[in-house]
Amino acid sequence: MSGGVLVLAEARRGELREVSLELLSLAAELSRAAGMALTAAVIDSTPERFAPALGAAGVGEVLTVRAPVEHFEAHVWERAVEQLIDSEQPAVVLCGHTIDALGFAPALAARLRLGFASDVTAASFDGGALRVRRGAYGEKLIAELSFPGSDCTLLTVRPGIFPAAEAGGASGPVRAVELQLDGAARTEHLEFVEVTESDVDITKAEFLLSIGRGVEDKDNIPRFEQLAGQLGATLSVSRPLVDAGWMPSARQVGQSGKTVKPRVYLAMGISGAVQHLAGMRGADTIIAVNSDPEAPIFGVAHYGAVADMFEVADELADALS
Ligand SMILES: Cc1cc2nc3c(=O)[nH]c(=O)nc-3n(C[C@H](O)[C@H](O)[C@H](O)COP(=O)(O)OP(=O)(O)OC[C@H]3O[C@@H](n4cnc5c(N)ncnc54)[C@H](O)[C@@H]3O)c2cc1C
Repeated sequence: MSGGVLVLAEARRGELREVSLELLSLAAELSRAAGMALTAAVIDSTPERFAPALGAAGVGEVLTVRAPVEHFEAHVWERAVEQLIDSEQPAVVLCGHTIDALGFAPALAARLRLGFASDVTAASFDGGALRVRRGAYGEKLIAELSFPGSDCTLLTVRPGIFPAAEAGGASGPVRAVELQLDGAARTEHLEFVEVTESDVDITKAEFLLSIGRGVEDKDNIPRFEQLAGQLGATLSVSRPLVDAGWMPSARQVGQSGKTVKPRVYLAMGISGAVQHLAGMRGADTIIAVNSDPEAPIFGVAHYGAVADMFEVADELADALS
């Protein structure tokens, strides 16, 4: 695949992570624009199990790499990816901006002197040159980066930004790649510790009712929890509610919280600060309720009501009861 796009799929506890399919859809666009081959690679103790799902539209070949450990280990992955880059000579390597990739990708890029950008939210080929976008200064600026002089550029791509490719949408050849990984592991996986603070994963919700500082008081939150239940929505929040200790961080949307992509995002009493928008602007339909007509949330909302969130909540609750 010399000069192609290489996607590093990610799996955890026997499941392919959604970000892998998102990377494939971005990679398909890039490879089409640049006329490059697209290859997906998966590193795992039993990598073959993921090969069918990775055969998505545009993928020319799936590489399976057998890891000598059952769970992710940063040094093993670093060594494996180094050898893959050496053998496949990709021009672009995509991995998720995830806790796993952060364990090896920046270190590898620095050591191999690759072009590198983290938390990428857009990428394209412009006149044959790769250009990417990422936030800077807490997303107050959007930086556009190019990588002159880099034969290979490694990008960690923000999850939840690109649509997921259809898993197994196309079947291509699968190649098992033998790599020297014995003795690479330097840490031992002991156990997964479950997050107990919340029983929800807001990144998977199709309908989010999201409340912000407009709620004013912790005692008002149950009212919106109840409304979420009536609407069939999941409750999420802006950061001040988490900072105040009113809600668990698992419910926080935004730059330092979760990136969500529901079909409907109903924001009530949220101003729409850039750090909040960073986590929700990819929602299919955004509806904003805010008493301030100048609130920035109206700049991204598809539908908006300049109204009191408590009055709207009461009317919705009455209509649904
Ligand atoms: C590095 C960094 C990371 C950050 N990460 C995040 C993040 O991940 N997520 C996040 O959310 N923020 C984040 N922030 C904070 C962010 O800058 C904002 O401060 C925050 O998003 C504001 O939350 P809010 O909209 O709920 O509150 P406010 O900005 O105070 O807005 C409250 C809104 O409610 C409206 N309102 C008030 N009363 C009513 C009512 N009765 N009916 C209707 N509307 C009403 C007001 O008009 C106002 O627009 C981050 C900041 C930094 C510096």
